[in-house]
Order: sequence, then C-alpha cells, then structure tokens
Amino acid sequence: MKQFLPVIFMVLWSPVFAQSLPRVAIAGLGIESSTFSPARTEEPAFHAKYGQEVFGNYPFLKDDNAPLRSQAVWLPAVIGKSLPGGTVTRQAYESLLGKLLDSLKKNGPYDGIWFDIHGAMSVVGLDDPEGDMIIRIRKIVGPKVLISTSMDLHGNVSKRLAENTDLITCYRMAPHEDAMETKERAVRLLLERLTNGKGKPKFKAYIPVPILLPGEKTSTRIEPGKSLYAAVAPAAAQDGIIDAAIWVGYAWADEPRNHAAVMVTGDDKQKVEAAAKDLAMHFWSVRNEFEFVAPTGNLKYCLDKAIASELHPFFISDSGDNPTAGGAGDVTWTLQQILKRKEFDDLNGPSLIYASIPGPDLVEKALQVGVGHEVEGLAGAMVDHRYAPPLKLKGMVTAIEKGDRDAEVEVVVKVGTVSVIVTKKRKPYHREADFTRLGLNPRGADIVVVKIGYLEPELYAMRADWLLALTPGGVDQDLQRLPYKRINRPMFPLNKNMPTPNLSVRWMRAADTLK
Ligand SMILES: [Zn+2]
Repeated sequence: MKQFLPVIFMVLWSPVFAQSLPRVAIAGLGIESSTFSPARTEEPAFHAKYGQEVFGNYPFLKDDNAPLRSQAVWLPAVIGKSLPGGTVTRQAYESLLGKLLDSLKKNGPYDGIWFDIHGAMSVVGLDDPEGDMIIRIRKIVGPKVLISTSMDLHGNVSKRLAENTDLITCYRMAPHEDAMETKERAVRLLLERLTNGKGKPKFKAYIPVPILLPGEKTSTRIEPGKSLYAAVAPAAAQDGIIDAAIWVGYAWADEPRNHAAVMVTGDDKQKVEAAAKDLAMHFWSVRNEFEFVAPTGNLKYCLDKAIASELHPFFISDSGDNPTAGGAGDVTWTLQQILKRKEFDDLNGPSLIYASIPGPDLVEKALQVGVGHEVEGLAGAMVDHRYAPPLKLKGMVTAIEKGDRDAEVEVVVKVGTVSVIVTKKRKPYHREADFTRLGLNPRGADIVVVKIGYLEPELYAMRADWLLALTPGGVDQDLQRLPYKRINRPMFPLNKNMPTPNLSVRWMRAADTLK
C-alpha cells in the first residue's frame, strides 16, 4: 500500500495544483520597418517560432527548471522577430498573424498573455499594425485576460495599443543591453498581478510627447538621454506604481502614431499621474539638447579625417542605410565613393574593411572560383538603387563562410587595400567575431566602415575614433530631408518654435470597459 500512496497523491493533487497556476500565452511579431525605404519584408524574415520552440528565444524561460517556467502553465503561440527592414507585405503579416491567432484559439482559455513586440512595424496598406494585432488577439481571448506588452523604446504606442494592453513596458537602454531584462520584467509583473489577485492595474497613464528624433541622437550612453532614462527605474520602483516607460518612437515611418510617448501603470492614481507627468516634462525640457552620439559629417569629410588620423581603428558609420534601423542595407553609394579614392589603390595605403553589401551575383561567382582567386561580379542596389547603381566589384577572394542565419553565405573580396564583405543576404555586423570569422582583424585595420548608426558595444569598445557619416538611404539621419506627410504636427524639431504641448495625462481605459 505504501508505494501506492505517492501515486494516489499525484493523481489527486497534480490537476488541482495545475489549475492553480495561471494559463499564460506568449505571442508577438516584431520588426522595425522603414516606410522611406523601397525594401519589402516577407514572412521568412521573421524566423517565426511555434509552440514549445518559442522558449528558445528567451534565456529566462529556456530551461524547464527556470524559475519563471514553474509559475505558469505556458501556452506559447507564435513569436516572430525580423531584422529591421522595409515595410512588411500584407500577405506576410496576415499569414503570420493568422497562425498566431489560430494557435491562441486552439489553446485557450487564458489568464494572461505576454505580448512581445518591437512596436515599429509598418505593413503595406495598414496603419498601426501592433494596435491591429492586439485588437484581433482581444477578439479571441476576450477583454478580461491580462495582457503584458514588452517593447523596444524605438517602438510607437498608439492609443488603441495603450487601451488594449494592461501592462506595458520598454527598454531603458540604447543600445539595448537590457533587452532580456525588460522582457523578463514584463513576464514577472504579469505573473505577479495574476497570482497576487490584483489583476489589471487600476490606472494607466498615457502621454504622447510630440518629439521625433533619430535613435542616434537619443542614446542613453550620453546626455540628455542618459539622465532622462535614468529617471525611469526610480519612478517605477515607487509603491503604487507597477511600471513606467518612455518611448523615443520610430522616426522612419510616416503615421500619426510616430512620436515619443510616456506610460505609467499602477494602482495609486496620484503617483501614477505625477510619475508620468514628470517623465514627459523631463523629456520636453531637454528636447534642445539631443545631439548625435558621435561627431557627424558628410562622407568625404569622414574619409578625409580617417585617412589623416593617427588613431586606428577609425570607425565610420554608414548611417543612412543602416539595416538595423530599417534601411535596405544594399545602397552602394558609400562603397562606390570609397573605391573611387586613390588612397586605397596604393598597396601601401590605409587598410579599410567595409561591412557590408549584399551581392548574390558576386557571392555565386566567388563560390565558383574559390578563395585565393580573382572574382568579378555585381553587388548591391537590388532593392534601393535611388542613390547609386549595382557596383561592379573586381578583386581577390580572401574568405568564404557559409551558414550564417542572416547572410547565408559571406565572402570577402579585396579591392586595393579595401576588404569588402559581400553577403548573399543582408546582415548587420555588430560583433568582433562577425569579422574575425572571416579572417578579418578590425583591431588591426586602419579604417572600418559599417552600415550602422551608433556603434554596438563591442565595436564601440574597440574604436580608437569614430565618425557618423550622414550618408543617403532609407533611414537618413537628417530627418529634415524626409518627406513626412502624415505625422502629427507640430512636431519637434521638425517644426521649430512650436508652442508648449499638452503634456497632461490621458487616462487609458481597460479593455473590459471599452465599447
Ligand atoms: Zn531599438
């Protein structure tokens, strides 16, 4: 009889125990996509994960014995994360969202949903896709389910997103070194509210801030972004407040929702209101102090400086076509200008690494000839050829690597003293290993030119000097050059000397009180 006791115990108690855990879904699609780029994003770019695969995206949920795993019955639906890019096709959006909604339908009911998004998705012919997504999720799960949304601080918060989510937060660091910490917080707060019986926050304060700035001016490494974002955690830590967040917003899309925003959630109305107003007024009061994270100039100025400098490696950001902000990543203009310079023809000239340009034609030809042989082929300007045509590259193949998730095949072609990384598909180069894998040594190079905005941490740490080149492309850093038609006006700094905006709290209703 003894050995049957534990069995009976398990049979009797495990369902009861399981019922006491909240049932939580994980769902969301994330991309930052520029409407000023001719590029289009298709479904495969999202590398969607389904069901149990979803856990693999999150270190704090990955292991079966991760502390947060045991606190809920997890029902992961679909998570899709794309590199930034062009506007998502309607077909890709509907297909992915359709699978997400089907999965939610199949596995319900739910107590909570963790809605993990970026917040700056653009879809052909559809405004505010994240608002559309959450409304369609609500139609399936109902208004009572607690939804916790985690976002990038470069995302946009529309009124319908603010109304339909219960908890909401975003990163507090740019570059986003706190990305996983933010997601974990969104999950932890969701589980807390589900298990402590408090449920939906009593108050959600939303303040749209009519400021639109590029991420390259709002890094939290330097002022005034540093102090502004440093104020978020103390605001959120107060009793009666659940979370607080500031969104810089996304500057390369043209919709009414593209602007900065503040949100604070909590149960103490006065504290929620005061915290939201303080953060919004802080943002407004420092609006004139935002500068680019590095000295800027046109490309000629940056190359002249780098060639003359004694400091190496000298980094130059080819910022207008930054693929991690939504540029096509295949604008050839900058590389064309570099290859025209005589200094790089001379084998005693400065060494330069260019990262990178997609060129499936050249990659194919390099695969045929192999390392150590000369190759000639076309690269770039298949998507964004507004500034320069496809580039004919002729040089020695020094490396070929296969298997990268984004690039698929990477080839290094040496032209004079310039090592050009050519990829089959576009890929951002953010880490030292991205270069060393290809036999390149960025620390030993005189100049490194990267399609990037602000340097990611590893590159930032190795730079001897750095200039941000204001090059043309779908994410032109000079916002005055962009043809906005639909953003709200007036908008700082596009409209100079605008009057002080209304920075009072807009109280957002909970989804179960919406009509
Ligand atoms: Zn971001």
